[in-house]
Amino acid sequence: MTRIAIGGFLHETNTFAPTKATYDDFVHGGGWPRMAVGAEVLRLRNINVGISGFIDAADAQGWELVPTISCGASPCAHVTEDAFERIARMIVDGIAGAGNLDAVYLDLHGAMVTEHLDDGEGEILARVRRVIGKELPLVVSLDLHANVTPAMVEHADALIAYRTYPHVDMAETGRAAARHLALLLGSKQRFAKAFRQLPFLIPISWQCTSDEPCKGIYRRLAGLESDKVPTLSFAPGFPAADFPDCGPSVFAYGRTQADADAAADQIAAMVVGHEKDFDGRIYGPDDGVRTAMQWARTAGKPIVIADTQDNPGAGGDSDTTGMLRALVRNGATRAATGVIWDPQSAEAAHAAGEGATVRLALGGKSGIPGDAPYEESFVVEKLSDGKFIAPGPYYGGRKMKMGPSACLRIGDVRVVVSSHKAQLADQAMYRFVGIEPTQQSILVNKSSVHFRADFEPIAERLMICAAPGAMPADTAALPWTRLRPGIRVKPNGPAFTPVLSRSTSRAIG
Ligand SMILES: [Zn+2]
Repeated sequence: MTRIAIGGFLHETNTFAPTKATYDDFVHGGGWPRMAVGAEVLRLRNINVGISGFIDAADAQGWELVPTISCGASPCAHVTEDAFERIARMIVDGIAGAGNLDAVYLDLHGAMVTEHLDDGEGEILARVRRVIGKELPLVVSLDLHANVTPAMVEHADALIAYRTYPHVDMAETGRAAARHLALLLGSKQRFAKAFRQLPFLIPISWQCTSDEPCKGIYRRLAGLESDKVPTLSFAPGFPAADFPDCGPSVFAYGRTQADADAAADQIAAMVVGHEKDFDGRIYGPDDGVRTAMQWARTAGKPIVIADTQDNPGAGGDSDTTGMLRALVRNGATRAATGVIWDPQSAEAAHAAGEGATVRLALGGKSGIPGDAPYEESFVVEKLSDGKFIAPGPYYGGRKMKMGPSACLRIGDVRVVVSSHKAQLADQAMYRFVGIEPTQQSILVNKSSVHFRADFEPIAERLMICAAPGAMPADTAALPWTRLRPGIRVKPNGPAFTPVLSRSTSRAIG
């Protein structure tokens, strides 16, 4: 019987964000399933996660799986050295102790930076490769936001990235990894690799695959896969990790080097040819809210605003108050926003009880310049223990655990407040505290793109607003110090030039 060791370790690191990811964060999972160890991993079925899709496909293949660990944490600043080393050891030791294996599959994100390593995934793959030797196939599914590095390409037999943003194909990518692994095991042949790093950063708002140019790029990419090139990926990257391999990349696996090169070059050229098209309108908080109020007058459905810079799926703490203040200041009615992560305010609301009025310093606690706690009185409309299912296409039926949560009202604006962080990407994240999203005139979601999977069908129009937050909509606004020399910090933007680092200046001064 074919025996395959599997594991998962997911983190998207925004090196500019305020809060690090600890071991406990991986135990809880944030927006991901709770940490699963050993046999628990095999229970991750029928949810939209890479490893879940792989497990389903392995069943169909009749493979025996040897589970190690599977975990993820909400995107934020660096993974602590402690968390990385403990989890990496469980994966590597699990594989080393698995006995005879035919292959290894890992579900990784591809944009993990730790306190002590720029390239978390490259290091994991190197350690796994050391244990399994050169011959055993090692196949990996990656997020579309992976910042792929030469080390990752070197150590894996195949890297396969999601091709939707919102990521509705996470489980499908796990199945794609299983299909590729079946090819490797069946043919006992290795595929040639081609890897291209592209010359400009792409802001996440313009990576959405429902819109051009990404829609057309992924259509072309799927069309280029064939017997000669069984898998081809484009990862637009996660443009908030300050290290030399940050940025978009294309990677292809072909029967011959020429096949792999030709496919990778076609997609790379197409992306580069669309450089000017990765662009769109971003509103300020006040002009955004006023425009939304105007549109709402004649709209039959909600106007849905992305509070993109505080997206906890990109390293924000999901607690900034800029958009909430703008809604209240401009007198928005039938408006709702969420999720503000603020355990203290949630606790105060629970202590006061439904119907009470509480004075709070809501949110604004992560120290974002230009943001502060919102000191006001709020009516506690509804309380919740934060447990519910998110059935929409992004979370795909995941069990959510937001901790003690509340609907707070100020004027005619309702706010979802929680004790745990997760990106507002499912209508259920309003309903669990009694807000019916379809009945609102304006919704402000702390998300950049993932919310679109569940909210586009109920939205009259979408818009993007930029209030102070950890993930600038304009990648050129980040204080980069360590990118690849020459990479443009946004499409058609200025090229990055390294400045003398402080340690260098000290050395020469
Ligand atoms: Zn992603």
